[in-house]
Parts: sequence; structure tokens; C-alpha cells
Amino acid sequence: MSIKENYKAIQHQLTLDAQLVAVSKTHPVSAIQEVYDLGQRVFGENKVQELMEKAPLLPQDIQWHLIGHLQTNKVKYIASFIDTIQSVDSEKLLAEINKEAAKNNKSIKVLLQVKIAAEESKFGLEISEAKAIFQHYIDGSFPHVEITGLMGMATFTDNEPQIRKEFLTLKALFDELNQLKPLKTLSMGMSDDFPIAIECGANSVRVGSAIFGRRDYSQ
Ligand SMILES: *Cc1c(COP(=O)(O)O)cnc(C)c1O
Repeated sequence: MSIKENYKAIQHQLTLDAQLVAVSKTHPVSAIQEVYDLGQRVFGENKVQELMEKAPLLPQDIQWHLIGHLQTNKVKYIASFIDTIQSVDSEKLLAEINKEAAKNNKSIKVLLQVKIAAEESKFGLEISEAKAIFQHYIDGSFPHVEITGLMGMATFTDNEPQIRKEFLTLKALFDELNQLKPLKTLSMGMSDDFPIAIECGANSVRVGSAIFGRRDYSQ
């Protein structure tokens, strides 16, 4: 199927209130422009370098989301133009984003990335850490960031009950934190599991290969 057909097919599977983040990592600017021309405005990249190369070549009204691990020393490169950083996996990183947002006289939206997968994943906060950071945020420690929600990735498996269980764990944390201070975004689900994620309460999904096709890392 073409990018256009893929994109339309995804849209049919989304609920009305679900936000689609089109994950364009490894794909060329021309493919991003094609999806932009179909009306998409929110795109996700996972590497700072790649994002910095592509963003200037594309329309200014794209809302860029960083969805990959972010090193603190690279926050300064994206602070001026990033819309949302979905991959906040330490308090140190959040403090750095707060600092760089202040320098740019803006507030940066972030999601706390929480480890929900059973498999050994390198990045993501433990639930207890996420709760602690959120409390410090409520207490006013990070005035230049807005924690708008949570992000998580399920285990890469065909075991649907397990995927569902992991998503529901994140949904439960979302509901709990939402009681303390209202949140907007629950980002979970990728090409292979986003319909399950939506059933489990996701209102934002990050879809790459189901729109752009397979990624070719050999280039
Ligand atoms: C690559 C990536 C996605 C999209 O993956 P697909 O399987 O291609 O949809 C979503 N979230 C994160 C964090 C990613 O790195």
C-alpha cells in the first residue's frame, strides 16, 4: 500500500479523541512532506541529530515530538523548537529541560516515560520514580515544563493478554496521577499494538512503519 493508503487506513482505526503521532524516524523529508500534505501535523523522531537535520527542511507548523532517549547535553539543541518531549526518563533530564525552556522563555511539554514492559528495557522510569518526580513537579520544582502525561511501550510479543496488562498498568498510574493534577496525554501503542492500546485507554499513539513502511537501517 502507498503512504496515502496506509495513512487513511490508520485514521479509520483511531477513535475521534485519539491523537496520532506519525513516527518518521529513518524516513526521508519527502515522505514526511507527503504525510503532512494529507493533513498530519504531529510527527515523532527518536534522535536529536536526525530531528535537527530534518526540521528546518519542513513546514514550520509541524509539532515535533521527541520519542527516543534524550541525553541531557543535547536538550539545548532542540529546546527552541520542540513541541513535546515524550521520553523523560530521569529527574535530571527533566531539570535540564526546565533550564533550557527557561532560557528560551517558553514552557516545554513533556511526558514521563514509564517502564511497563516485562522485557529488559534500558529506558523508562519505575512507577515509584514517576510518582516521586510528579510530586516534585506539583510542588513547583519545574516551572518551565508542563508534564502533560505518560508514555510507555509494551513488551515486543504476540502475547496479547500480556500487552494488555502492561498498558492497563500505565492507565492505572495515569488515573492516579490525574487525581493529583489533571493530565491530558496517555501515549501508548505503536504500529503493531495501537488498537489494543486505545482499548486500554491510550489517547495518543505513535505509529511509524504502518504509515511509512518498513524502516531500512542499512542506508
Ligand atoms: C520507532 C518507535 C515507534 C514507532 O514504531 P512502529 O512500530 O514503526 O510503529 C513508537 N514509539 C517509539 C518510542 C519508537 O521508538
